Amino acid sequence: MEKIIVLGTGTASVIENFNTCFVLEDSNKEYLLVDTGGGNRILGQFKKANIDLTKIHNIFISHKHIDHLFGMLWIYRFVDLAMQKGTYEGILNIYCHGEVAKIIREQIHTLLRKSQQQFIDKRIFINIVNNHEKVKILNYELEFLDIISKSDKQYGFKTTLNNGKTLAFLGDEP
Ligand SMILES: [Zn+2]
Repeated sequence: MEKIIVLGTGTASVIENFNTCFVLEDSNKEYLLVDTGGGNRILGQFKKANIDLTKIHNIFISHKHIDHLFGMLWIYRFVDLAMQKGTYEGILNIYCHGEVAKIIREQIHTLLRKSQQQFIDKRIFINIVNNHEKVKILNYELEFLDIISKSDKQYGFKTTLNNGKTLAFLGDEP
């Protein structure tokens, strides 16, 4: 069944709960992860929600704030390792606007050891998306949208769910 699994609801400064992020699960039990929280606690949130990291092949990151972005490096590290071990099948696609893409790439190159970044641009792809660009992810057509944030550049998206309803994700703009 198609569903949204909420992994966190908190703002950047929360301690007791986790930063805002969620998974959209389609009717084939495939996942789109939307934002990654602020660190390696994302991996624990997957476990609590019974989501196998090796089944996540699509990630969207809305903006560069650390409570949305820093989980990405941990996911990268674990996925790259799982690919090396042969326990992750297929590819991982990360979608974000250009500024976020540059930061993710720099973090991988500067913070991970060479042995931890074997699959960047081979099986792990950072896809830059533009305003109003439509991309097919799982069985959804997502239209990425610049939400015209007053702080840092931030994208959301709009899609039609299998149940016919519209899902609009607007990031965390106040
Ligand atoms: Zn933010």
